[in-house]
Amino acid sequence: MDERLIKDKNNIWHPFTPLRGADDPLLITSASGIYLHTHDGRKIIDAVSSWWVNIHGHSHPHIAEALATQARKLEHVIFAGFTHEPAIRLSENLKKILPNNQQKIFFSDNGSTAVEVALKMAMQYWHNKGIEKKNIIALQGAYHGDTFGSMSVGDRGIFTDPFARYLFNVIPVDFPDEAYEEKAFEQFKSAIDGGSVCAFIFEPLVQGAGGMRMYRPEILDRMIAYARAYDVICIADEVFTGFGRTGRMFASDYLEHKPDIMALSKGLTGGTLPMGITTCSQQIVSAFETDDFLKTFFHGHSYTANPLACAAANASYELLTNAQCQQNIARITQQQHAFKLRLQGHKNVRTVRSLGTLMALEVQTDAQTSYTSTARKKIYHYFLEKNILLRPLGNVIYVLPPYVITAEELDHVHNSIEEFLTTL
Ligand SMILES: *Cc1c(COP(=O)(O)O)cnc(C)c1O
Repeated sequence: MDERLIKDKNNIWHPFTPLRGADDPLLITSASGIYLHTHDGRKIIDAVSSWWVNIHGHSHPHIAEALATQARKLEHVIFAGFTHEPAIRLSENLKKILPNNQQKIFFSDNGSTAVEVALKMAMQYWHNKGIEKKNIIALQGAYHGDTFGSMSVGDRGIFTDPFARYLFNVIPVDFPDEAYEEKAFEQFKSAIDGGSVCAFIFEPLVQGAGGMRMYRPEILDRMIAYARAYDVICIADEVFTGFGRTGRMFASDYLEHKPDIMALSKGLTGGTLPMGITTCSQQIVSAFETDDFLKTFFHGHSYTANPLACAAANASYELLTNAQCQQNIARITQQQHAFKLRLQGHKNVRTVRSLGTLMALEVQTDAQTSYTSTARKKIYHYFLEKNILLRPLGNVIYVLPPYVITAEELDHVHNSIEEFLTTL
């Protein structure tokens, strides 16, 4: 074994990875575009955008250049009482693409913290107003992150079991699958009619980690409209869906009723550096605009609005809003949709769906469909051997490429999946 891998094994604890029984990690020495280069000369297609963060391909020269320039000028400065140009520019850039009602930008470090901030903003909004509202509504099957607040509003299961007693209660509402929309809406209504609802949090249009489950904008719009009518703060967790993933800039762009608060991360820096952002409407802001010091939002992180991360995000924004990138997103959307149609009715495919640059299929297996299912490991290895990184969720295979993938490369991934289906 490579000596570096032995050191890794001795020293490092990897995320979502058992300490016994897991395969050795692959040692990546460089990456470029959609390809990951291993130390032993393999070239692997990153078809999951490195856990959904990479949108412009790896080591993009425009982002690298922006980072290098920024690093020589200002690497970091405390963000309380101080500010800097990269953050100001990013706030302006984001406001050009966010729904119109989003007024202020709050920085943090990752998707989970962006969700924590969103929840804390919603809770303190009512606190500042002196109104007692304590319930939070969340959708079944949701994933909002791995910190305590974000775990609390996420689906409960094997990942949260050890912490169950420390998580706060939420009111779960059934996932509004197309066939269950009315039932889910009735549940949602009675949760709100029950009173004292502080906020409703959701992943708009697609639940990522929950298995790439999709639901229609029409039902979400109805829920938001109803919540609004009863003064319930609507939080869109766009950590996964943001920055073009769903074919539009944000999944909320498919909605008529815009969220009050939005959580962003993942694609924000193009997948280069960790950063989270929470944005909110003027209505939320107004509960904090007071001379009462005690109504301040007392939240912050050491690296809040890190200038390097901001520089990467600004460079990523420039690429994302470029016509070339928008054409790529449209082309990938079309290709994924065509592949979905091709697989519809396939005897080894239980369900198949696509939205924007994302497509997902549920493999027909006799076994259980959970994350722990053996199907997952088998599928993962099958594709890795073919130098394609796909990381199925249970028996759900999804293709989520960086937007720089070419038509031929995406065809290759699709054809490999179709080939795999014939082996079942
Ligand atoms: C990944 C994800 C998070 C958590 O983001 P991290 O950066 O991994 O903490 C939160 N919400 C959604 C919808 C996500 O997909």
